[in-house]
Amino acid sequence: MASSCKGDGAYLVGRVHTDLLISVTDRCNLRCVYYMPDEGMTFLPRSQLLSYEEIGRVAAVARDLGVTSIRLTGGEPLVRKDLTSLVSRLTSIGLEDLALTTNGMQLAKMAAGLAAAGLKRVNVSCDSLRADRFESIRRRGDLATVLSAMDAAEAAGLLPLKVNVVLLRGRSDDEVLDFAAFARETGRIVRFIEFMPLDAQGQWDRSSLVPGQEVFERISQVWPLEALGDHGEPAPAERLRLTADGAFLNCPFSDDERSARDVLRGGAGAGEIARMLREAVWAKFPGHATNQPGFLRPARSMSMIGG
Ligand code: SAM
Repeated sequence: MASSCKGDGAYLVGRVHTDLLISVTDRCNLRCVYYMPDEGMTFLPRSQLLSYEEIGRVAAVARDLGVTSIRLTGGEPLVRKDLTSLVSRLTSIGLEDLALTTNGMQLAKMAAGLAAAGLKRVNVSCDSLRADRFESIRRRGDLATVLSAMDAAEAAGLLPLKVNVVLLRGRSDDEVLDFAAFARETGRIVRFIEFMPLDAQGQWDRSSLVPGQEVFERISQVWPLEALGDHGEPAPAERLRLTADGAFLNCPFSDDERSARDVLRGGAGAGEIARMLREAVWAKFPGHATNQPGFLRPARSMSMIGG
């Protein structure tokens, strides 16, 4: 999608958005240390979540504006009832790519059905290849289930399979080469994600973050890597998002939200949603400012906005 300037049809070069990330729930069945506190999370009442019908309407408008790729996330998307029916609904609007990011705990039993409904691929989060460490980072869930889920996803044709890894300094940063070897052995695409200040408990600190450059250099010493530069995938922070409660968000660090849910429930049609989407793209700040002095955490955590 390209942003238009005040509806006059002028397109801003460089702001072309073809990817939309949709969070379908803020709930999760795990409690990763970098994500949610072990106890005491409160979640949105169901009435505040977009229904599947509402998500489908927004997605159709986004497709008409040039979005070709949608990724479903959360929270944990597979804990929302009957997610397969949402996948069918989104498949029917016609997209080039429809993906899902999941912790994998319920994926093994759902993979074939999701693929049959039109899902093309999955990203599975897995922060350690050591069972005890995996459990201490994710606090609920276990490594064996997630590894089986990856196998099931591949068997169902949900390819390419990407594995998301959030490395934590002093806790799992010694697994960089293990993950690189895992990628080489399995053909799965391992992506190291820097720990971002989007944890619900507000405990992020820079000393826990393992910079991507360091990961790149450590792997390169053993297996030379090529930098993708501008031709790589857009960083997750650069995508347009629809939160579980129906707000458009142009960046996970933005507090500039527009509620598509309120607009839809107020009886507005596709034209109004299209206008909001264009505005969200237009307002997009190029890059985010976590490295700037005075950076303030955003009001919403990753579980609320979807990652
Ligand atoms: N529950 C699903 C999962 O675990 O993949 C989907 C939602 S989760 C928010 C999506 C991705 O965001 C996961 O790969 C997770 O590891 C990552 N993530 C969560 N909190 C993060 C944080 N504070 N910093 C960086 N990545 C984070």
